[in-house]
Amino acid sequence: MNENISIIAKKISETSNNVIFTGAGISTESGIPDYRSKGGIWDKFRPVYFNEFMSSRDAREEYWRRWSELYQDLILAKPNPAHMAIIKLHEMGLLKSVITQNIDGLHQESGLPDEKVIELHGSTCRIRCMSCNKISSIHDVKKRLDSGDLAPECECGGYLKPDTISFGQAMPVEKVERAIKMSKDCNFFMVVGSTLIVQPASHMPVYAKNSKAFLAIINLSETPCDGICDVRVHGKAGEVMTKIINEIDQNGR
Ligand SMILES: [Zn+2]
Repeated sequence: MNENISIIAKKISETSNNVIFTGAGISTESGIPDYRSKGGIWDKFRPVYFNEFMSSRDAREEYWRRWSELYQDLILAKPNPAHMAIIKLHEMGLLKSVITQNIDGLHQESGLPDEKVIELHGSTCRIRCMSCNKISSIHDVKKRLDSGDLAPECECGGYLKPDTISFGQAMPVEKVERAIKMSKDCNFFMVVGSTLIVQPASHMPVYAKNSKAFLAIINLSETPCDGICDVRVHGKAGEVMTKIINEIDQNGR
């Protein structure tokens, strides 16, 4: 494992054109459950599909009930050592961009500027009006839910919805294209805490590898891209990322 960490540290230091791809494994270390995993909220209940949300008040109320549960996890969650290691890379001038499957906004909360984060599945820290696109604060919307407004609407009459990609909702074309371009153009691509199962996110390492980037994967379990990567570390995101930063520091950056 330590040998692989040294290789990763060396490769990151060689270029500033480094892309980091993060998934649920980095958020679980901040206490955010992996909702798609067994026992997670999407495993317990049938998901509310986008067309149901848009066509049925019952579905909207159901969605908001579940979101209220997530809200509790969300306000308690703080960036962990893996997020902070990514910030260090940013400060060292060694980070081009983060592509994330996570919807918790923790990369931004850790101090990464918005323009360095591509949120493929959106963010549950923003509430968007589905008609006029106005963004509202999650805390204001939570207050409305708590006061009995069970499916909040915008003043324009549009439905408010967390700014995430729901089941059955189209992926944001511009973001996906930007992520593909970043993946193809980078010299070094590192997966941190993703099982690389959810599409189209899971294709990004393949784009990177096919474009001759060095591909590293840090994850607790196996991924479908293990066979094509250059270096693989089985471990927790926070621990491994901290070791990588220490190694870069020691090598005198
Ligand atoms: Zn509106």
